[in-house]
Amino acid sequence: MIRLTELSLPLHHADEALPAAICRRLRITPRELVRHVVARRAHDARDKGDIKLVYSVDVNVRDEAAILNRFRKDRQVQRTPDTRYRFVAQAPEDAARPVVIGAGPCGLFAGLILAQMGYRPIILDRGKVVRERTKDTWGLWRRSVLNPESNVQFGEGGAGTFSDGKLYSRIKDGRHLDRKVLTEFVKAGAPPEILTEAHPHIGTFRLVTMVESMRATIEELGGEYRFSTRVDGLDVVEAAGERRIRGLHLHDGGYLAASHVVLAIGHSARDSFAMLQAAGVHVEAKPFSIGVRIEHPQGWIDRARFGANAGHPMLGAAEYHISHHCSNGRTVYSFCMCPGGTVVAATSEEGRVATNGMSQYSRNERNANSGFVVAIDPARDYPGDPLAGIALQRHWEERAFVAGGSCYKAPAQRLGDFLAGRASTALGSIVPSYKPGVTPTDLAECLPDFAVAAMREAVPVFGRQIPGYDHPDVVMTGVETRTSSPVRFTRDEAFQSLNTRGLFPAGEGAGYAGGILSAAVDGIKVAEAVALSMGASTADA
Ligand code: FAD
Repeated sequence: MIRLTELSLPLHHADEALPAAICRRLRITPRELVRHVVARRAHDARDKGDIKLVYSVDVNVRDEAAILNRFRKDRQVQRTPDTRYRFVAQAPEDAARPVVIGAGPCGLFAGLILAQMGYRPIILDRGKVVRERTKDTWGLWRRSVLNPESNVQFGEGGAGTFSDGKLYSRIKDGRHLDRKVLTEFVKAGAPPEILTEAHPHIGTFRLVTMVESMRATIEELGGEYRFSTRVDGLDVVEAAGERRIRGLHLHDGGYLAASHVVLAIGHSARDSFAMLQAAGVHVEAKPFSIGVRIEHPQGWIDRARFGANAGHPMLGAAEYHISHHCSNGRTVYSFCMCPGGTVVAATSEEGRVATNGMSQYSRNERNANSGFVVAIDPARDYPGDPLAGIALQRHWEERAFVAGGSCYKAPAQRLGDFLAGRASTALGSIVPSYKPGVTPTDLAECLPDFAVAAMREAVPVFGRQIPGYDHPDVVMTGVETRTSSPVRFTRDEAFQSLNTRGLFPAGEGAGYAGGILSAAVDGIKVAEAVALSMGASTADA
């Protein structure tokens, strides 16, 4: 097959326009075109008055060799890449059972690939099975009751379960591992168009059933899940100048022998980070970002991006990605934008407030929300101990808890008041979506001064890019502190901890992913590394 890329057609085109455009581009007659399949569809809305749909198509033609030869210097006409996933190993009969800590996207895919290779992984998660966890998560949103072990961050499906389910990332992936992830998601019930959309998303509702379906697959292949099982300690032996993992201490006093452990604990397992540091596992501080969630009516974003075409079904709810480099050396940017969604309470610790965003597949809630955040780094902002970034997150999350009224309401402010440097006493025409509710106040008290200054500088810049972004009634809700992991558990070229053999740090918490797709891809890579390193292992768990 031939892959033809960058084929641009008007938004309102007839079905026949695509094969006609293929024939024109390849200079063939309709009879020479045997079949075509859309591999990817994006839109180009840089000119709102003339929005284009941009296709990549896989094409069967009568004489493929002749066409490839004719276009041999044309990068937009190439042989279709082989994106099939190939397993790197098959488990021997007596294979040991690898252990995966964490059932988020990273642990889920590490577990799935290990199971598909014939290893029978044991997957541990401190949180509950996804349906139970959903009830606990809603407990905070509806009744202001937090379960620190079962919430937005912890439990089956991991942090991405109550999310927009955006599935794109900027990772460069020559092996097309992202395709393996998307294919498995579709098998588990995701809408098939995630395989072709340039910016696919799933929405939170389907994610719950997909996670259950993937669990069933892993269990059918001999894998095993243990929920409400928190790893509280590592059993590490030192011999011949090498530290090697031998087992795991569990929260209930139990012990699990394990020689190969995937550490996929996400970015919010702060107690576990401290446990790992105390166990001597190499850990470094890494940059992340802090700020607030900002909400605009989705209609404003649609009109700003799509003009008169706002609401066109091929375009869906509009997204944005914006950034600004400030005069104080800081970078402000939009993070994890959720079109037509809601702002969610995302804390996992008592006495703290943190925000994030989610949406349903339809993305049809009234407001768009996104993180409005400032990049920070260890050298400037939290020097010293590798876990100092966590102390910083906790400090501002506690300030937000108090500013919100010490009841899990979040502090919120009208953008006009934030820019004027005065506390909000009431909100305006835009109704915040955060549950269990917000308290109008001064968000400048919940963020470092440099962040406040940078955000104030960025607002008018963003307002010029997206009309309405800087409207005084726009609502900000805080604080957004968990944009990515504040630490990295550095690994070597074999994907093992720099100083603890058999421990495979993975995913977002280990500092090797940011988002569902990249965490899942990292899970695949780590599963492969585990399998390759287990060649000579014998059963030990
Ligand atoms: P996690 O998903 O965090 O999973 C870690 C798991 O480890 C958890 O289930 C936890 O219970 C478990 N665990 C932690 N410590 C222990 C322990 N000691 N013992 C046993 N188990 C433990 N990303 C996107 O790409 N698109 C989005 O639309 C999106 N929206 C989001 C919305 C929200 C509300 C949130 C919170 C995040 C969102 N993200 C989104 C980010 C995305 O969810 C994460 O990047 C991704 O989940 C990271 O995957 P992970 O497997 O590395 O870690």
